[in-house]
Amino acid sequence: MGRRGPRAAPAFMFDASAMIVPLPVQPAMSRKLRRDLRTLALFVDVFCRSRHRHDPKGLVALKTHDVRAIYGKPLYLCDDCRKLLIHAFIKRTYCPLDPKPACKKCPQHCYAPAYRARIRQVMKYSGQRLILRGRLDYLFHMFT
Ligand code: SF4
Ligand SMILES: [Zn+2]
Repeated sequence: MGRRGPRAAPAFMFDASAMIVPLPVQPAMSRKLRRDLRTLALFVDVFCRSRHRHDPKGLVALKTHDVRAIYGKPLYLCDDCRKLLIHAFIKRTYCPLDPKPACKKCPQHCYAPAYRARIRQVMKYSGQRLILRGRLDYLFHMFT
């Protein structure tokens, strides 16, 4: 009998790596997606700076998104606003609808109910403040 090469793995061998399905890091981002995420970050930032100005803030960092690159600067939010923004980033990034409607007109709003109510409050409040600052350009990107 001749020498055998390395034994091929049997077809039924368990492959642990196949069980790990992480979210893609920094998903390929269209200009529209990047702009929507930046707008979301701005609205939550404006809200948190004003309504939660005395609350402790932490740097927003995600494994799936480079928040600093998207927003153009480091973003510091209170705990509640950080959770809300992360929820909104994930929902917006992995939105299953194509073409995507404005979230406020979406027939299958995918936010968890508590986050949906809060993002509506944030968009309304920050939208009004941005109008006062003359930032009408952002109002075309209201989500909820
Ligand atoms: S609310 Fe609708 S449009 Fe907005 S991210 Fe969710 S599924 Fe997409
Ligand atoms: Zn806040």
